[in-house]
Amino acid sequence: MTIEEAQQAVDKWIKENGVRYFSELTNMACLAEEVGELARVMSRTYGDQSFKEGEKANLGEEMADVLWVLLCLANQTNVNLTEELRKSFDKKTIRDKERHKNNPKLK
Ligand SMILES: [Mg+2]
Repeated sequence: MTIEEAQQAVDKWIKENGVRYFSELTNMACLAEEVGELARVMSRTYGDQSFKEGEKANLGEEMADVLWVLLCLANQTNVNLTEELRKSFDKKTIRDKERHKNNPKLK
């Protein structure tokens, strides 16, 4: 599935299964909530925290939740994430061309 297809699939799902998109601000809060859930799994998997009884390491599920809400926000704000990701690659390639290679902390 391409990013464009993912944006279309989420839009189709919302139209078929939802009433409408949550407002942009509600979805922004939902995004923050999902990022927090992802952070919780990361902290317990790779950090110093441990899972409580009954919690599971659902890393992929939480990443997908973050992506889902981001796709919603892109759709409702008319952002083409494929184009924006291409621009981001270009920006990082120009700006960071030597930066990371010259970072002694990465060696
Ligand atoms: Mg979640």
